[in-house]
Amino acid sequence: MARRDHLITSVLVLGLAVGGTTTAWLAMPMSDQTGRVVQAASMSSPPAPAHESLVLSTTQVDASGDHTTLERTVPQDPASEHAAPESLDAELVLDAKPPQAAEEAEETEETEETESDPPLRFDDVDIEYIEGTRPWVIHRILRVETLEQVAHRYDATPQAVRNWNGLAPDATPPAGLRVKLKAKRVPPTRKRVGYTVKPGDTWWSIGTAHGIDSRDLRTANWTAPNRLAGGERITLWIDPVVHHWIHEGESATEAEGGAVGIRRGAVGVGPPWEGRLINGVRIPEGAGWRRKMMPSSYGTTHAVTNLVKALQKFHAEGGYERDVLLGSMSWPHGGPMKGHRSHQTGRDLDIWLPLLARYPSWTKLEPRRIDYEALWKLVAALLDTGEVEMLFLDHELQRRLHKAATKLGVDRATLREVIQWPRGATAHAGSMRHESGHEDHIHVRFRCGPHETECAAGRAPGRDGG
Ligand SMILES: [Zn+2]
Repeated sequence: MARRDHLITSVLVLGLAVGGTTTAWLAMPMSDQTGRVVQAASMSSPPAPAHESLVLSTTQVDASGDHTTLERTVPQDPASEHAAPESLDAELVLDAKPPQAAEEAEETEETEETESDPPLRFDDVDIEYIEGTRPWVIHRILRVETLEQVAHRYDATPQAVRNWNGLAPDATPPAGLRVKLKAKRVPPTRKRVGYTVKPGDTWWSIGTAHGIDSRDLRTANWTAPNRLAGGERITLWIDPVVHHWIHEGESATEAEGGAVGIRRGAVGVGPPWEGRLINGVRIPEGAGWRRKMMPSSYGTTHAVTNLVKALQKFHAEGGYERDVLLGSMSWPHGGPMKGHRSHQTGRDLDIWLPLLARYPSWTKLEPRRIDYEALWKLVAALLDTGEVEMLFLDHELQRRLHKAATKLGVDRATLREVIQWPRGATAHAGSMRHESGHEDHIHVRFRCGPHETECAAGRAPGRDGG
């Protein structure tokens, strides 16, 4: 599948068309699960040169590939240049409708279509930053948020956010604190929608239907009863990208692996070692594999879809007579998992290494009992999806795998691309890397999916595997 991450990482474009070094900063409209919307732009000292202006631009790419760029230049008020940022918050309405209108939209049953508000193709909206500038964003920390979550939302590191705001390394900032941060990406503003609970609805069913984590939904509507009876009015804060993806026509299913048919809306947030999973989807049953860790076999739609595609391909090719045994992926809502450093966002999975046919299934997995040819075929099927970011396997086992693959006739260039060995165990080379403790299983990390606007890729040294 084509990488589409860049298409949907954000909806709005804000750039600062300025020269030289300025500390001008501005805030994007933003909101989050519990939903206060902050819309402000401010300029702070040193005084901006007279030619400075804010450029707001939105680039839309429609289905035919046409680009429409809307640009508005907002001249800076000279009187504002010397004031402190706090006193300067100027309301900038960047959305199609002002916040009040958004609240009035509460009465609509359906979330998007009203006469004055035609459905938006959020996943066709592109973002560009002007002249390589990155916008400064102000985010007000909410009661349910951690600093780490806020940082990852804008693809910044928690440490950088602490530095930018003069916070101690171990500080837990209080709710309501406004932190400024330099955003690498700005996820689209969540939309507030009123919803009348229907008989039979549960927090989980409403959450999965609208792409909102059911726990966040429960928190945002804490006055509502635990057990919903029907008729209650609750508030949904909808991520437009995820919501649109869940509700768009069936036609797109084919492009996503079609026959696999994994429920949409399960997305990862943050990096694998410090994130969570929104309404995880469980790996389905299937011919050729078995789930050994049912309570922690949840992942993102994207990861589970590609996993199933790879397992089906591996099984169809008949390289292994036993079932592939699947270990832990993530909890239904992700987060820390005992005994693992990552596995927090639904895109990491441990798979037991295939055992040679001559050993009974209860035999302890030892390096000499592993079916490396089958392992190579499994790895190849996984990589064939194009959606595997990393693989973790013990360095000595990589050597044996390399040997088996060579025997199978795999060319050197491919091996070099895939396997770290014969380079050292710490070499930054190959999709497959050494990680201690990976002697009886291989750890697969899938990429962030195209609808995961808050998923963070990348590695953290020494915190990857497990
Ligand atoms: Zn693992």
